[in-house]
Amino acid sequence: MAVMITDSCINCDSCIEECPATAIVSADDAPIAGFEHTYVKPEKCIECADSTVPKCADICPTEGAIVWDMPYIAEFNDYYKSGHEGGNYGIREHKSKGFMFPENSPKPYRESISQEDRAAHKNVSA
Ligand code: SF4
Ligand code: SF4
Repeated sequence: MAVMITDSCINCDSCIEECPATAIVSADDAPIAGFEHTYVKPEKCIECADSTVPKCADICPTEGAIVWDMPYIAEFNDYYKSGHEGGNYGIREHKSKGFMFPENSPKPYRESISQEDRAAHKNVSA
């Protein structure tokens, strides 16, 4: 991903404008029906890999609202595909290219974050 937003989020929407990849949308605009908090589109998140800190986490006032998820790369294609099918993600479907899963559209990620920390959805500390 990427990062993900948890149900600790207070829906202040402060992070939306900060994202350089327009990856964050408010609950009302989330691609999952009935979603109740601000949502990160993993197929767009670049983990702010070219910045010193993830900008969303830098502005977020809520401890535990933004956590790590797996890198959005081909190795985790099945992870995101099953998450999409299970309703955790709403991956965009491109008219001609199909679903923008990692194998079709990999994204930059922070190599410094371990897979263990990602799998545990550790807090993104900016
Ligand atoms: S800044 Fe934090 S609390 Fe506010 S909408 Fe974003 S994730 Fe939620
Ligand atoms: S880590 Fe960066 S690119 Fe990803 S959602 Fe946060 S601000 Fe956007």
